[in-house]
Amino acid sequence: MANEVDVADVNPRPLPLVMAPPKGRGKPPRHLADLSAEERKAAAEELGLPAFRVKQVAHHYFARLERDPEAMTDLPAKDRDAIVGALLPPLLSKVRMLQADGGTTRKTLWRLFDGSLVESVLMRYPDRATVCVSSQAGCGMACPFCATGQGGLQRNMSTAEIIDQVVDAAHQMASGQVPGGPGRLSNVVFMGMGEPMANYKAMIGAVRRMVAPAPDGLGLSARNITVSTVGLVPRMRQLATERIPVTLALSLHAPDDELRNELVPINTRFSVAETVEAAWEYARTTKRRVSIEYAMMRDINDQAWRADLLGDVLNSYGDWGWVHVNLIPLNPTPGSKWTASRREDEREFVRRLEAKGIPTTVRDTRGSDIDGACGQLAAVE
Ligand code: SAH
Repeated sequence: MANEVDVADVNPRPLPLVMAPPKGRGKPPRHLADLSAEERKAAAEELGLPAFRVKQVAHHYFARLERDPEAMTDLPAKDRDAIVGALLPPLLSKVRMLQADGGTTRKTLWRLFDGSLVESVLMRYPDRATVCVSSQAGCGMACPFCATGQGGLQRNMSTAEIIDQVVDAAHQMASGQVPGGPGRLSNVVFMGMGEPMANYKAMIGAVRRMVAPAPDGLGLSARNITVSTVGLVPRMRQLATERIPVTLALSLHAPDDELRNELVPINTRFSVAETVEAAWEYARTTKRRVSIEYAMMRDINDQAWRADLLGDVLNSYGDWGWVHVNLIPLNPTPGSKWTASRREDEREFVRRLEAKGIPTTVRDTRGSDIDGACGQLAAVE
């Protein structure tokens, strides 16, 4: 059951009104999380602060997950607000928070400084806690089954706007707000709003902050970070050269160009063959198993012959375990002509892939009662 939390309870620092220029214009304020270790030194000089002050603030933010100046008692009281205001300007303002699955699935709708709306979802499991983050306000990829795709792109998010979603989720876990007692955020997936590869610089900056040990970053394991993409081939190749072995997820949704051109329009630029080859190259270079995302749509892409074709396409790059398939039951968007597959078709699809030696999982549908998937909450707003 979904239930709503009073925003006043969860939003101790609402954004000041002066920070609301028209939607989509201007840049979000610069934030500590936008800066590399070297850039922090320059920022300290610029602000006339000794370097150790910036380090103290970084420790509060990345290690203690603290954003409230009042709690930073090791900073001189008279300068505290100014220091924190310059380094940790508020970026995300909580609009709504919805819970499902007994409070272990928690979706937040955020307003950015310019009025844009984005979402993130925290999901706690027995063995891990995952936050699904947005990387753009809106999305320009126009996949017709995806709620975010319908509204177009508003703008790229900054590195710090991405990181702040992770810090908020880590704070929810650490502070014991999530049923199950205090815990640690372990996983991040770029499966919220936006195409992370179309905002590459901010995305990779955020990944760097996630994997850097505290106080330079959040100290997450690269293998627990998943970058999900429609398949921007040059960016997939670039990601393979970063020497940060994050998990790559490719949203394939169809094994043939004819159907994929319709479901994932960027396919008219990069074909199934080129896209799958880039995914395979990623697996070969990084030794990380790639995940193929496949949203199951009734009588559209769920036929047994397409399962066979998908298996053959993937196996044409070898069967050394470079890939697995993650089937996602379609979460129909309002007014969509597509709906989720029948159970028996889903089972047959899994059976055929497994018969070809492809490890296959069906994603659980957490939070579907709170519009858990894909821009639906922002679309309602
Ligand atoms: N732009 C990136 C990441 C965001 S979407 C990408 O496309 O990979 C994360 C995943 O959710 C993608 O696999 C996307 O295709 C899928 N998705 C989008 N809308 C959906 C829907 N209505 N039901 C099920 N999955 C959906």
